Amino acid sequence: MKKKNKIWLGFTLTSALLTGTSLGGYYYTMEHFEPALYHEERIVINGDTLSQAEFAERIEKENGVWYYQAPEDSSKIDLYALSDYKIKGDRRYRLYQNLELEKSVDTILVKRDNQEKKLYYFYGPNDSISNLPSMGSMDWNKLNIRHFVSDDPKIQAQLEIYNNALNCTEDHEKQHFKGAQAGLMRSGRSYETVFGDNCMDEVAANIAQLMRQRRNYQQHGEDEKYITPRFNFYKEWLKKASHSEEAKYSPSSLKTIFADTCMCEISDSIAEFLKWRQGFVNKGGQIPLGYKFYDKWLLRFPFQAENISVEEAAFIANGVFDSWKKEKFPIYIKRNADRAIYILREANYNGCQDNPKEHAQLMHQVFLIEGIDFYQFIEGREQEFINDLPQKQQERFSSLLKIKKNQMSYFEKVGQLTQNSPTKKDIHFQNVKRKHEWNKLTNKILGRGR
Ligand SMILES: [Zn+2]
Repeated sequence: MKKKNKIWLGFTLTSALLTGTSLGGYYYTMEHFEPALYHEERIVINGDTLSQAEFAERIEKENGVWYYQAPEDSSKIDLYALSDYKIKGDRRYRLYQNLELEKSVDTILVKRDNQEKKLYYFYGPNDSISNLPSMGSMDWNKLNIRHFVSDDPKIQAQLEIYNNALNCTEDHEKQHFKGAQAGLMRSGRSYETVFGDNCMDEVAANIAQLMRQRRNYQQHGEDEKYITPRFNFYKEWLKKASHSEEAKYSPSSLKTIFADTCMCEISDSIAEFLKWRQGFVNKGGQIPLGYKFYDKWLLRFPFQAENISVEEAAFIANGVFDSWKKEKFPIYIKRNADRAIYILREANYNGCQDNPKEHAQLMHQVFLIEGIDFYQFIEGREQEFINDLPQKQQERFSSLLKIKKNQMSYFEKVGQLTQNSPTKKDIHFQNVKRKHEWNKLTNKILGRGR
């Protein structure tokens, strides 16, 4: 071998090793940050299953975009589009957008068994159950209301509170439908969040139901029978409120309203506050400096709606939340956990991640009932349901998430790790290509062949 060639070979090896050292460190760092991407053994694209080397061999950057070139096909596949951050699983949500409600009413005959002193509920002549069935149901767009009838006037009188005229079942069930249309069937939330939202869905349905009962109460000369025992806390409140105007604005109810949202101490003098509030209305909306916190509220709260005060709306939101959590939550835990799994059934790993900003928007949308945004009074309280999720359900959720993580495709991983960043995507595919070229080069020099 001539001296010149020796020098050349020496130079090549030295530079290759030098580059190798720095590249080695560089790849180490990249692999550290994107381990899932670099240890991907199989990449499925265009119906082909490839090794990373085969994939890298066929990718090329053209006009600033990375493409995959299928061997026996002249078309190019845009890798940026393919690795878009995808959250699968909104098929059912989209179906909801075009659904219209279909309402039906079932008459349930109620008979007393005198020996057992028990009531039996008949769907058909022979089809009876011994427990009170639910007053209605909502399955997709099928709204079903149950109407309870008895030939015994005494029993009939007892049953009235379950019928729509008093119970306002239809408003409750319709709210579930509205919630689904607003996005409660959407992915893009964690299992835990969906579970909490399923509970919030019930809270919203109960608020809608109570708002209708409240309207019936007002339209029938404040007849108390229009507020059913389901909302006893509100009936009690009405009684107090009618005794004195001051009771409506009790310090505790005001505390509920302002404590979280306003980050300010509530004035000890409720009377002073009320005076100001009246002044605000009289002066056409001038807010004194000391009450600036009220600003944000006024913007979001239509005072004219339903002839309801901010205080009462806040009381209804929190009262329904508290009573539902106390009385119904334990019964609903399993059902709502199952439902979370059902809602996220088609979602991939990316679709089971939280997005707090979008979530807050969804909640405000769901709780927009009769023009009032009730969520502003109970914002964030869904966390209370999530905090009380039993360990067994938590474990179900985390094992399902693990399975989804293992099922992620290479492109889903790229999408997840590089979302909203074309630069990151560029760097990733560039690294895949460079690493491949480097492996080819070293193999050639070391005579390993390919
Ligand atoms: Zn419900």
